[in-house]
Parts: sequence; C-alpha cells; structure tokens
Amino acid sequence: MGVLDKIKQERKGIKANTELLVVEQTLNKLFFCEPNPEEEIKMLKMQYKQKNGDRYGLHASSMLASEKEFCYRQQVLSLFYKQIQGENIPIGLKRLFEEGNFIGEKWQRLFIRGGLGKAEDMDRSLFWPEYDLSYTPDAIIRIGKKRYVVEIKSQNTFTFKKANSHPGGMKQLKFYMYLTGIHRGFVLVEDKNDQSFKIYIAEHDPAELDTYIERLEYIQVYKERFQNKKKMVKRLCKRDNIKRAKECNMRDACWDLGMGRVKLVI
Ligand code: SF4
Repeated sequence: MGVLDKIKQERKGIKANTELLVVEQTLNKLFFCEPNPEEEIKMLKMQYKQKNGDRYGLHASSMLASEKEFCYRQQVLSLFYKQIQGENIPIGLKRLFEEGNFIGEKWQRLFIRGGLGKAEDMDRSLFWPEYDLSYTPDAIIRIGKKRYVVEIKSQNTFTFKKANSHPGGMKQLKFYMYLTGIHRGFVLVEDKNDQSFKIYIAEHDPAELDTYIERLEYIQVYKERFQNKKKMVKRLCKRDNIKRAKECNMRDACWDLGMGRVKLVI
C-alpha cells in the first residue's frame, strides 16, 4: 500500500471513530430527555394498527435467508394466498420476539424524546411496488445533519460481551439502507442484562446485496409465470412434516392443508 493510501485509510478510520463517538454520546443523552407522551402514544397507536393487520406478500427480512433455507415457492405463494399469521412460531421464539419488540419500542420512544425522529419514522412499513416488497426499518433518525437508518437488536450478556459485530443485524440494515436510499445507518445492540449498548456503523456497499435483488427479480418472473401459465415453483421441502415446512408461513397453501389455498383479496 502506498503512502497516500495509508493516509487516506487513517483519515477514514479517524472519521469513523468520531462518528461513532457522536452517535454514542447522542444516544446516552436521550436518557435525560423529558417524555413526549403525545408523540409516543401516536407512535404506539400507529404500530398497533400496523401489527393488527394480516401479513401478506413479500417482506425484506425473508429475502435475507441463507441459500439453503430460501424457498421461491414460499415467496411466490405469499403473493396469491393467505399466510399463517405466526401460529406456527414456537412459544420460546414468541417470548424472545416480544422482549425484542419492547426493547425496540423503548429506543424508539427515546429517539422521539430527544427529537431525533417523529412517530412516523419508527417501525413504519414501507412498500416497493415494483417488487411487491414491504420493509420496516426499526427507525429513521437524524443526528445533526445526518440521517440514519437504525436496526435495533438485543443479545444475552454472554454473547454481547464477546461480540464485536452483529452480522444478521448488519445484513438487514444494509438492505434497508439500499431500499430507503438513505446510505447511512447503524445497528444498535443492547445487552439484555445491564442495558449497556454497542453501536456498529454500516458502510454502504450495494454490491453486497446483489443476491437479494436477484431473488426479488426472479420472484417477479415466477409470479408472472404463475399468472399466465398457472405453473408454480417446485417445492423445496420433501414432506409437509419436516421442520422447515412446519415453520413455513405458506405451508397450508403449499400442501393444501389446514386453511388450504385462501386467495388474497387486495
Ligand atoms: S412448505 Fe417448504 S416447499 Fe412449501 S413453501 Fe414452505 S418452505 Fe417452500
């Protein structure tokens, strides 16, 4: 590496550290802000309304599944038929999700208190019609003149103390940064034990997302094929009672079980 490159890299490092410090200090100050009941209640009402509706169609988070787990049939079916609304999620996972939701809500309320965002910036579902894709960033906030997409995660204290990254959260965040067009963001990870937190700032690199964009494009091709030729993508699961099928939200439509193939009326 040449001298100029070295200087550039050092400057980049200093800039990143300064940004990290600013973000951390701003977030710590939020704990001293007065509550903003009006805006916080507005946020909760908006979120409850959003969560009470049935889930349908594609969601950005499911595009990020590993190659082994990703099922085109599941995605295409979700554009035509009703999906299971979380009844198939094991109770242990349900408990974890609920805890994660409350931690997210706490931070969203703090962002509002500190004037970093409004109710409509917290957990709002957005839609990309070209790909039939919904996506829900945890928060879009402003610190100084910069806008950030925020992904909020939590970990048990053992994992938290050992970790120096959050690959799953980072993958999700970068996809949301791409979809929103806001090319700054960070993953905020909270220790469930003592409420300390870490910030991982993301670097925008759309090339990392090629696989997911490609999946979205293929889904559109398969969707059209089903509409025109009634030909559905082949099954990934060999049987309806294996773990992946049991956890799949399109299992009933896929195998014509339970509620079967209930057509969506959108
Ligand atoms: S049950 Fe299996 S094959 Fe059918 S849609 Fe779900 S993941 Fe795909």
